[in-house]
Amino acid sequence: MLNKIAVDTHTHTVLSGHAWSTLTENANAAASLGMHGICLTEHGPRIPGGAVDYAPAAQMMLPTLISGVTIFRGVEANIVDFAGNIDIEMRFINRTEFALASIHDIVLKPGTPEENTAALVGVLSHPYIDMVGHIDDAKTPNLYEEVILAAKDLGKLIEINNNSLLVRRGSEPNIRQIARLCKKHQARVCVSSDAHFWTMIGNVSPSLMLIDDIGFPDELVVNRSADSFHAYLAERADRLRRTGSIRKKR
Ligand SMILES: [Zn+2]
Ligand SMILES: [Zn+2]
Repeated sequence: MLNKIAVDTHTHTVLSGHAWSTLTENANAAASLGMHGICLTEHGPRIPGGAVDYAPAAQMMLPTLISGVTIFRGVEANIVDFAGNIDIEMRFINRTEFALASIHDIVLKPGTPEENTAALVGVLSHPYIDMVGHIDDAKTPNLYEEVILAAKDLGKLIEINNNSLLVRRGSEPNIRQIARLCKKHQARVCVSSDAHFWTMIGNVSPSLMLIDDIGFPDELVVNRSADSFHAYLAERADRLRRTGSIRKKR
């Protein structure tokens, strides 16, 4: 059984408007757990008080390492319609190293399961979106198997969001079902904290116990080790090169 993650792929700072720690506090927390890195995934601008749209590009100013922890530049984009469009323009999101997209009911009033599914499947086709976030949310019912198969086909990832167990009522059975389907289809996941305070960084034991409960294979957890996460990033770079989406060097 996995008892920790090496890279926390979903974390917020005060820049997200409703989180309470700084990047340095988050990095120090990760360092104290011996973690390799954290992805800085602030909310997109459509969340009230969220980071400005150009924040993913502004992250270029940050050091790569803080307290020995690698800071991966990212974003948690908001899905804004049922076609799966997001609130970050290509010229900003193309600076990210790891990006996820989620439905937040404060931005997109959830639709039918079919509409929510179309939004999640649609966003997975965005060249820079790596993962769909907290699809377990009972407020945004969707057809898990369709979303999982789309992610697998595109070489992308499903999130197992530990924060859902804490704040998204009714998520636990959904996460269990999502993990079972990922296991059945050999679809890859990241287990992440969705930390809004530094004590939450890397703190995903409840999720790891839950997926262990259903015999989830370790090798499907992309952020289990620094090597497996970097292997995914290399795959991402290849994919972007193949599709011609990679940002031209100036
Ligand atoms: Zn979210
Ligand atoms: Zn989040």
